[in-house]
Amino acid sequence: MRVSKLQSFDEVADAERILRDGFPTGVINIQSMYTLAKYYRSICGFGEARIKKALVDFCKLQNPSFNPVLEDAFLRKWVMNAMKYEIKKAKPVIITRQEVETIKEVKDAKKRKLLFVALVLAKYNHKTDFSKYFITYNNRRDMVVHCKFSMKENDVSDALSEFVGTLLTLYNPEQELVRLNYVYPDSEAVLEIKDFGRLMDYFKDIFGDTISCARCGVEVERTSNRTKYCPECAKIISKERNRVYMKKTYQVKKVT
Ligand SMILES: [Zn+2]
Repeated sequence: MRVSKLQSFDEVADAERILRDGFPTGVINIQSMYTLAKYYRSICGFGEARIKKALVDFCKLQNPSFNPVLEDAFLRKWVMNAMKYEIKKAKPVIITRQEVETIKEVKDAKKRKLLFVALVLAKYNHKTDFSKYFITYNNRRDMVVHCKFSMKENDVSDALSEFVGTLLTLYNPEQELVRLNYVYPDSEAVLEIKDFGRLMDYFKDIFGDTISCARCGVEVERTSNRTKYCPECAKIISKERNRVYMKKTYQVKKVT
């Protein structure tokens, strides 16, 4: 089983919170320990031995019966991970005009939202010494949470499958990486994202408000306060109304 936690946009703040609040129940949170180890490495500049000692001290403080000998495998994993990966610091993500234009061409608002959030994640996680931008299969849960709609992880893959070969490339199936082909870092900056808790507000600002069609459920742009249906359903509904109206009129005429 894979335990995927949501992507953090500020692990330094996360680590400081862990140090301040600890684990009130005394249960060591394994994921949090990875973050803490990275903090000791990237922020405090500790070497392997000092990271390990700091982690043991912290765990003992949380739970006096913590046994570093029994938990040595975990301790080593936390330390190795910290030596390998930098802590994720808070940093803004810049969205450019060309990126917005590309996403705008996608008709379905749900898919547009998924592609937008994928772009933000890929840009946040991008390594400066690398020219390509990625999301991982694990990010699917983050995407749904940020899009604020409910969708199963497999349905996210299905929804995005139509873009494979154009906007997306299945880059390295073994590492579960998906490459984004709609990142244009050199285009003009149009948006700076700092508050990652409200990605859909940013989305609304650029792409407009959306509603889900009262007839078929597809997400479409809200063009007025009266928008209730997607364009296709609106046509069908209006035809239906016309038909009913004609029938009534005809019947009335026949009677008179
Ligand atoms: Zn519809």
